[in-house]
Amino acid sequence: MPIIGIPASISTGREVAGERFFVSENYIAAIVSAGGVPVILPPAVDFGGIMQQMRMVHGLLLIGGYDVDPALYGQEPLPGLGPVFPDRDAYEIAVACAAAHQGKPLLGICRGIQVVNVAFGGKLYQDLSQFPGPILQHYQKGHRSAPGHNVELRKETLLRRIFGQETVRTNSYHHQVIMDVAPGFVINGRTSDGIIEGIENKAATILGVQWHPEMLQKNDPLMRRLFSWLIDSAG
Ligand code: MN
Repeated sequence: MPIIGIPASISTGREVAGERFFVSENYIAAIVSAGGVPVILPPAVDFGGIMQQMRMVHGLLLIGGYDVDPALYGQEPLPGLGPVFPDRDAYEIAVACAAAHQGKPLLGICRGIQVVNVAFGGKLYQDLSQFPGPILQHYQKGHRSAPGHNVELRKETLLRRIFGQETVRTNSYHHQVIMDVAPGFVINGRTSDGIIEGIENKAATILGVQWHPEMLQKNDPLMRRLFSWLIDSAG
């Protein structure tokens, strides 16, 4: 069974026992239910360690979390920016590049799509308040496993092939979004307000979505297909 590496989140460090590395159970359950073997990857390794970690896995899942440091895409911090963890950014950018170099499939979720975009030369809006024009609610107040907005899928993309339909209903928990798409990537999904909700590379080995399918997949078989794609491509 394909081994899927999941780089861990870093806690804020305000806990009694100090900083921790962790992965929410939903991501693990989604990989297991799609037939993969999840392995949590701690970010505290050097370049040689990263290469060795990446040789151990068949695919990579980049999960949600705090904001990407805007210095990585050439911007000063603006008032809407949340907490940043430069060590996690550096680690995840390195593993994303290693996955691309080794031709291993990568699924990026929420922060994961943003990391992928920045790793390959794209830019973000630090906060939705900077987006020009009216927007939908992208930080939904309903339950996490309940769908919020629709995402329109672009024809002739990997994402459209995975779902086999023009529109999917997704949940939405993000305050940052892609501004400029990284070279070599295409937009594969948007909400009706024009916000970018999905990207993929032209080789169709790297896929990012701005929503949280791991929270939906228990009740929504359609969302399981994203994890099945990762595991089938890794196998
Ligand atoms: Mn959204």
